[in-house]
Amino acid sequence: MNRIVLGAMGVALLAAAAAAQTNYAAVQIKPTALGHRTWMLEGNGGNITVIAGDDAVIMVDTQFAPLHDKIKAAVAELTGKPIRYVVDTHLHGDHTGGNQAFWMDGATIVGQDLLKKSMAEGTTNALSGAKTPPSPASALPTITYADRMSLSVKGRKVELVHMPHAHTRGDTAVWVPDADVLATGDIVSTGGRYPNIDVGDAGGIEGMIKGVDAYLKRADAKTKIVPGHGALMDREGLKTYRQLLVDARDSVKALKAKGMSEDQAVAAKPLAAPMTAGSVQARAGATDRASDNFVRLIYRSVA
Ligand SMILES: [Zn+2]
Repeated sequence: MNRIVLGAMGVALLAAAAAAQTNYAAVQIKPTALGHRTWMLEGNGGNITVIAGDDAVIMVDTQFAPLHDKIKAAVAELTGKPIRYVVDTHLHGDHTGGNQAFWMDGATIVGQDLLKKSMAEGTTNALSGAKTPPSPASALPTITYADRMSLSVKGRKVELVHMPHAHTRGDTAVWVPDADVLATGDIVSTGGRYPNIDVGDAGGIEGMIKGVDAYLKRADAKTKIVPGHGALMDREGLKTYRQLLVDARDSVKALKAKGMSEDQAVAAKPLAAPMTAGSVQARAGATDRASDNFVRLIYRSVA
């Protein structure tokens, strides 16, 4: 089967699954200019970063398949250039859902080796046990890398860096040096909920903190930080987010050290109290369920 037929089959399947839950027709794509022909796009799903060169565009993440037309139109309006490369920060569907549709437009998908392996094999959710089936070949990266690589369009160059054992096992950070922009993927995720973390092959809470430390080391006061979810951040915001992770880790670790089981630790609601302005929960703006899940993820990933 050719590219168009294969791609259309996959897109239709993904669209049907996704459309059951969200009213994508109502979603608006909101661009934020980051200077130097670089933008952050918000819609539904992970934040997108658009880097425009003289001849073509590098786009980081794709949100959900049903949003393809809107995202494509937004990029065309901002840049007037075709999307040559799509970079996946990690495999989760709210970041890679549009892969096939952009591939059908002619984009080349780029990702870390282990992202491709996970997508090709399918994955299992650590909390729910829910299985994500293997992705069709047309949604997989055709350019992969191990540690780092650079990607260019005319007049622009970005650097992809593997962030090992963090949010997933195949996370990519995208640095855009000329615009002083960092796209973090879900190693940094705010937006009114606790971050989720793949346990097992990913790095658990310690891996997330290590990833943030690597970002803090390289970012400066002017760096514009595009998180996986949530509003545009600066280095100060990233430090606050790091503290949130550390506080949550320490609270759960202390309960585990006391000999509590995972369920007991969840029942103790370590992230719910004290409900002050500076508390972890207030800063995350998280729901009870999200904080319960976060406790479980941390519990499983601390020694
Ligand atoms: Zn994710």
